[in-house]
Amino acid sequence: MTPGSTVFRECSACGKHIAQHTINSGNTLGARFWTDGKRDAPMLPDQPWLVKCPHCSSLVWIDEQMQVGEIEPWGPRGEGFTKFTDALPASAPTLREYSACLLAGVEAGDKERYVRLRTWWAGNDARRNGVHHTPLTEVETANLLAFSALLNEKEDNDRLMKAEALRELGMFEEAEGLLATQFQKELMEAIGIIRRLNKSRNSVVAEMKFR
Ligand SMILES: [Zn+2]
Repeated sequence: MTPGSTVFRECSACGKHIAQHTINSGNTLGARFWTDGKRDAPMLPDQPWLVKCPHCSSLVWIDEQMQVGEIEPWGPRGEGFTKFTDALPASAPTLREYSACLLAGVEAGDKERYVRLRTWWAGNDARRNGVHHTPLTEVETANLLAFSALLNEKEDNDRLMKAEALRELGMFEEAEGLLATQFQKELMEAIGIIRRLNKSRNSVVAEMKFR
Protein backbone atom coordinates (compact mmCIF):
# COMPACT_ATOMS: atom_id res chain seq x y z
CA MET A 1 0.00 0.00 0.00
CA THR A 2 1.23 3.48 -0.86
CA PRO A 3 -0.06 6.27 1.33
CA GLY A 4 -1.34 9.40 -0.35
CA SER A 5 -1.40 12.91 0.97
CA THR A 6 -2.86 13.92 4.31
CA VAL A 7 -5.69 16.38 3.83
CA PHE A 8 -6.59 18.71 6.67
CA ARG A 9 -10.22 19.71 6.94
CA GLU A 10 -12.17 21.95 9.27
CA CYS A 11 -15.15 20.28 10.97
CA SER A 12 -18.26 22.25 10.01
CA ALA A 13 -19.76 21.59 13.45
CA CYS A 14 -16.92 22.60 15.79
CA GLY A 15 -14.30 24.27 13.59
CA LYS A 16 -11.49 21.96 14.76
CA HIS A 17 -9.25 20.06 12.38
CA ILE A 18 -9.65 16.56 10.98
CA ALA A 19 -6.68 14.78 9.36
CA GLN A 20 -7.79 12.67 6.40
CA HIS A 21 -5.15 10.12 5.44
CA THR A 22 -5.60 9.20 1.79
CA ILE A 23 -4.24 6.19 -0.13
CA ASN A 24 -2.38 6.43 -3.44
CA SER A 25 -2.66 2.77 -4.29
CA GLY A 26 -3.60 -0.39 -2.50
CA ASN A 27 -4.49 -4.00 -3.20
CA THR A 28 -6.67 -6.76 -1.85
CA LEU A 29 -3.80 -8.99 -0.69
CA GLY A 30 -4.94 -10.86 2.42
CA ALA A 31 -8.44 -9.41 2.10
CA ARG A 32 -11.56 -11.11 3.42
CA PHE A 33 -14.82 -10.85 1.50
CA TRP A 34 -18.27 -11.19 3.02
CA THR A 35 -21.62 -12.06 1.51
CA ASP A 36 -23.03 -8.63 2.44
CA GLY A 37 -20.42 -7.01 0.19
CA LYS A 38 -18.10 -5.84 2.93
CA ARG A 39 -14.40 -6.25 2.30
CA ASP A 40 -11.73 -6.23 5.00
CA ALA A 41 -8.47 -5.49 3.19
CA PRO A 42 -5.37 -4.71 5.27
CA MET A 43 -3.62 -3.25 2.22
CA LEU A 44 -6.62 -1.15 1.22
CA PRO A 45 -8.02 0.49 4.35
CA ASP A 46 -11.60 1.67 4.36
CA GLN A 47 -12.10 5.34 3.49
CA PRO A 48 -15.46 6.14 5.07
CA TRP A 49 -17.56 8.91 3.53
CA LEU A 50 -19.62 9.70 6.63
CA VAL A 51 -17.26 10.11 9.59
CA LYS A 52 -17.39 10.98 13.27
CA CYS A 53 -15.50 14.16 14.16
CA PRO A 54 -12.74 13.20 16.65
CA HIS A 55 -13.33 16.47 18.56
CA CYS A 56 -17.10 16.98 18.80
CA SER A 57 -18.41 13.53 17.69
CA SER A 58 -20.72 15.09 15.07
CA LEU A 59 -21.31 12.93 12.01
CA VAL A 60 -20.10 14.80 8.93
CA TRP A 61 -19.56 13.95 5.24
CA ILE A 62 -15.79 14.10 4.89
CA ASP A 63 -15.74 15.61 1.39
CA GLU A 64 -18.04 18.44 2.51
CA GLN A 65 -15.69 19.65 5.26
CA MET A 66 -13.63 22.61 4.12
CA GLN A 67 -10.11 21.69 3.09
CA VAL A 68 -7.63 23.97 4.85
CA GLY A 69 -4.33 22.26 4.06
CA GLU A 70 -2.61 19.23 2.56
CA ILE A 71 0.78 17.57 2.97
CA GLU A 72 2.35 15.00 0.69
CA PRO A 73 3.45 11.71 2.30
CA TRP A 74 7.16 12.29 1.71
CA GLY A 75 7.11 16.00 1.09
CA PRO A 76 8.98 18.62 3.08
CA ARG A 77 7.81 19.03 6.65
CA GLY A 78 6.10 22.31 5.96
CA GLU A 79 3.37 24.30 7.64
CA GLY A 80 1.04 21.30 7.89
CA PHE A 81 3.07 19.97 10.78
CA THR A 82 3.01 23.17 12.79
CA LYS A 83 -0.31 24.66 11.73
CA PHE A 84 -2.61 21.69 12.29
CA THR A 85 -1.20 20.20 15.47
CA ASP A 86 -4.74 19.67 16.78
CA ALA A 87 -5.72 17.58 13.73
CA LEU A 88 -6.87 14.04 14.50
CA PRO A 89 -8.10 11.29 12.19
CA ALA A 90 -11.86 10.72 12.12
CA SER A 91 -13.44 7.34 12.73
CA ALA A 92 -16.40 5.55 11.18
CA PRO A 93 -19.72 5.78 13.06
CA THR A 94 -21.02 2.84 15.12
CA LEU A 95 -24.29 0.99 14.46
CA ARG A 96 -26.03 3.14 17.09
CA GLU A 97 -24.73 6.33 15.47
CA TYR A 98 -25.76 5.26 11.96
CA SER A 99 -29.23 4.41 13.30
CA ALA A 100 -29.54 7.83 14.96
CA CYS A 101 -28.46 9.43 11.70
CA LEU A 102 -31.22 7.57 9.80
CA LEU A 103 -33.76 8.53 12.44
CA ALA A 104 -32.78 12.19 12.09
CA GLY A 105 -33.21 11.88 8.32
CA VAL A 106 -30.67 11.45 5.53
CA GLU A 107 -30.84 13.03 2.10
CA ALA A 108 -32.42 10.57 -0.35
CA GLY A 109 -30.16 9.15 -3.07
CA ASP A 110 -26.50 8.21 -2.68
CA LYS A 111 -26.31 9.35 0.95
CA GLU A 112 -29.28 7.31 2.12
CA ARG A 113 -28.00 4.28 0.21
CA TYR A 114 -24.56 4.70 1.80
CA VAL A 115 -25.87 5.04 5.37
CA ARG A 116 -28.23 2.08 4.99
CA LEU A 117 -25.45 -0.12 3.57
CA ARG A 118 -23.09 0.90 6.37
CA THR A 119 -25.81 0.32 8.97
CA TRP A 120 -26.24 -3.21 7.60
CA TRP A 121 -22.49 -3.87 7.72
CA ALA A 122 -22.10 -2.38 11.21
CA GLY A 123 -24.85 -4.65 12.53
CA ASN A 124 -23.25 -7.66 10.87
CA ASP A 125 -19.79 -6.91 12.28
CA ALA A 126 -20.80 -8.61 15.54
CA ARG A 127 -21.73 -11.74 13.56
CA ARG A 128 -18.70 -12.02 11.30
CA ASN A 129 -16.48 -14.05 13.60
CA GLY A 130 -18.96 -15.01 16.24
CA VAL A 131 -19.99 -18.46 17.24
CA HIS A 132 -23.41 -17.28 18.41
CA HIS A 133 -25.44 -15.69 15.70
CA THR A 134 -27.90 -13.22 17.07
CA PRO A 135 -30.94 -12.58 14.89
CA LEU A 136 -31.41 -9.18 13.23
CA THR A 137 -32.79 -6.54 15.59
CA GLU A 138 -35.94 -4.58 14.73
CA VAL A 139 -33.82 -1.60 13.68
CA GLU A 140 -31.63 -3.79 11.46
CA THR A 141 -34.65 -5.46 9.87
CA ALA A 142 -36.33 -2.12 9.09
CA ASN A 143 -33.08 -0.79 7.67
CA LEU A 144 -32.43 -3.85 5.52
CA LEU A 145 -35.97 -3.76 4.09
CA ALA A 146 -35.59 -0.06 3.27
CA PHE A 147 -32.12 -0.67 1.79
CA SER A 148 -33.27 -3.53 -0.43
CA ALA A 149 -36.07 -1.29 -1.78
CA LEU A 150 -33.40 1.18 -2.97
CA LEU A 151 -31.61 -1.43 -5.09
CA ASN A 152 -32.13 -1.67 -8.83
CA GLU A 153 -32.88 -5.27 -9.80
CA LYS A 154 -31.89 -4.55 -13.40
CA GLU A 155 -28.25 -4.09 -12.32
CA ASP A 156 -26.37 -7.34 -11.64
CA ASN A 157 -24.53 -6.06 -8.56
CA ASP A 158 -27.66 -4.55 -7.06
CA ARG A 159 -29.69 -7.67 -7.79
CA LEU A 160 -27.08 -9.83 -6.05
CA MET A 161 -26.99 -7.46 -3.07
CA LYS A 162 -30.78 -7.51 -2.88
CA ALA A 163 -30.82 -11.31 -2.94
CA GLU A 164 -28.33 -11.33 -0.05
CA ALA A 165 -30.42 -8.79 1.88
CA LEU A 166 -33.53 -10.94 1.39
CA ARG A 167 -31.61 -14.07 2.47
CA GLU A 168 -30.52 -12.35 5.68
CA LEU A 169 -34.13 -11.26 6.23
CA GLY A 170 -35.14 -14.92 5.95
CA MET A 171 -37.04 -14.30 2.69
CA PHE A 172 -35.47 -17.34 1.03
CA GLU A 173 -38.01 -17.83 -1.79
CA GLU A 174 -37.70 -14.20 -2.88
CA ALA A 175 -33.91 -14.44 -2.69
CA GLU A 176 -33.88 -17.59 -4.84
CA GLY A 177 -36.09 -15.83 -7.40
CA LEU A 178 -33.38 -13.21 -7.89
CA LEU A 179 -30.42 -15.62 -7.68
CA ALA A 180 -31.89 -17.87 -10.38
CA THR A 181 -31.65 -15.09 -12.98
CA GLN A 182 -28.84 -14.46 -15.48
CA PHE A 183 -25.71 -12.74 -14.07
CA GLN A 184 -22.40 -11.68 -15.57
CA LYS A 185 -19.69 -14.37 -15.39
CA GLU A 186 -17.54 -12.54 -12.82
CA LEU A 187 -20.31 -12.81 -10.23
CA MET A 188 -21.10 -16.50 -10.67
CA GLU A 189 -18.82 -17.77 -7.88
CA ALA A 190 -20.38 -15.34 -5.38
CA ILE A 191 -23.85 -16.27 -6.62
CA GLY A 192 -23.04 -19.95 -6.05
CA ILE A 193 -21.89 -19.34 -2.47
CA ILE A 194 -24.95 -17.25 -1.57
CA ARG A 195 -27.33 -19.60 -3.33
CA ARG A 196 -26.02 -22.59 -1.36
CA LEU A 197 -26.52 -20.71 1.92
CA ASN A 198 -29.97 -19.65 0.81
CA LYS A 199 -30.96 -23.21 -0.17
CA SER A 200 -29.97 -24.45 3.28
CA ARG A 201 -32.13 -21.70 4.86
CA ASN A 202 -29.10 -20.05 6.42
CA SER A 203 -29.69 -16.33 7.01
CA VAL A 204 -26.35 -15.33 8.58
CA VAL A 205 -23.66 -13.23 6.90
CA ALA A 206 -20.75 -15.46 5.81
CA GLU A 207 -17.21 -15.13 4.58
CA MET A 208 -16.80 -15.83 0.88
CA LYS A 209 -13.71 -17.88 0.09
CA PHE A 210 -12.94 -17.68 -3.61
CA ARG A 211 -10.91 -20.34 -5.36
ZN1 LIG B 1 -16.27 18.62 15.10
